[in-house]
Amino acid sequence: MRPYDIIKKKRDGGVNTKEEIEYMINGYLNEEIPDYQVAAWLMAIFFRHMQEEESYNLAEIMLKSGDTIDLSEIKGKKIDKHSTGGVGDKTTIAIAPMVASLGLKVAKLSGRSLGHTGGTIDKLEAIPGFKTDLQVKDFYRIANEVGIVVAGQTANIAPADKKIYALRDATATVEELSLIASSIMSKKLAVLSDGIVLDVKVGSGAFMKDIDEAKELAVIMLAIAKRHKRSAKALITNMNQPLGETVGNSLEVLEAVNTVKGNGPKDFTKLCIEISSHMADLSGIISYQEAKKKLVENIKNGVVSRKMKEWIKAQGGNEEVVDHPSNVLNISKEIIDFKADRAGYITYIDTEKVGMASMYLGAGRQKKDDSIDLSVGLKILKKLGDKVQDGETIARLFVSENSNVEFALDLLRQAYSIQKEASLNICNDIISKLVSISLMQIPHYYFQKQTTLQ
Ligand code: URA
Repeated sequence: MRPYDIIKKKRDGGVNTKEEIEYMINGYLNEEIPDYQVAAWLMAIFFRHMQEEESYNLAEIMLKSGDTIDLSEIKGKKIDKHSTGGVGDKTTIAIAPMVASLGLKVAKLSGRSLGHTGGTIDKLEAIPGFKTDLQVKDFYRIANEVGIVVAGQTANIAPADKKIYALRDATATVEELSLIASSIMSKKLAVLSDGIVLDVKVGSGAFMKDIDEAKELAVIMLAIAKRHKRSAKALITNMNQPLGETVGNSLEVLEAVNTVKGNGPKDFTKLCIEISSHMADLSGIISYQEAKKKLVENIKNGVVSRKMKEWIKAQGGNEEVVDHPSNVLNISKEIIDFKADRAGYITYIDTEKVGMASMYLGAGRQKKDDSIDLSVGLKILKKLGDKVQDGETIARLFVSENSNVEFALDLLRQAYSIQKEASLNICNDIISKLVSISLMQIPHYYFQKQTTLQ
């Protein structure tokens, strides 16, 4: 086998066999195949795409390049969730205590911020004392005692994906459906949970900009899960504007805390209840409808916020953050307003640019090893469809001396479209009309079907 022939086959629209994919991935991991050949192959995949069979094989090969995390020491049903990445997505922090309040276990590995998207681990570290690098025995103990544990990704989960992802990032080949599906599933399948809810983001702040692409991504991921005999469900959710009202680590923790106490933004609260209810349904413990009802009750009567406190304490964090978040969180006091330069209606938000603005303030990383500032970020005061006056504040910037404020303001100016007339095409629904796709809905013939990704 020669890398040249494998690249050429894909370049010309062919289908790579499992052996060929394995040869490329393992050769790259073992440093026997140089990065320029793997980069050329990835670019060929970007333009020619992979069939579902190839995507499944790639996921499996990357999964097998590392360890799996056995959750059998944790009693009860363990349901995982994954978001394909967005702006202001602090969902895990709020849904973990929601789901645990229903009797499910959440034992999860999460990632850090990169580019315009944030990372749950950075956000959790905004809580003073919160430890995310846990020993395995503590991971199991906390999950059993509290029902929730969230730790950082260890180096041994799908190391092939880690290496390939870095190369994709440097070669503009991230935004390919089949590669995204394999990459996400190689890591999700490595954690042996009883089920996975996939939150597939669609819109200007997501990898998938249109709904058909998002649906295709969801279907490929579900098909991969099905072949691994794992329960899964996917939701397609709106990322045409930042989720909730905050972007940036401490600010997002504040919003998640407010949400579990029943005072969160409507869109974010709705999404959290929706995802949690699907997780509960997947576990078989309680139906989707019952879970929804119970969650509203548990938020109201304080069960969810007490669960959040228990969790934060168990991972070494200052649980006072739940009752008195402003006393505990380090949120910058230096504030600059981004104001409307005309009166009108907000008709479009380039959400990726909003995420980039937050990154330039210091809340996120441009490169993997960049340091971040947990105290900075954005509070979004105006969202899609809102009316604004000339000079009215659209977003509040929480900045520090290292923030690139001019760059961030410039990105926000580019991100927001203000028109005289309101747009009739705005969809503010947080969940797409497709609502959810479950494994059962994936036709059996899907596995034979050629994915048409053009
Ligand atoms: N998240 C991942 O883990 N992988 C991708 O390829 C894209 C988003």
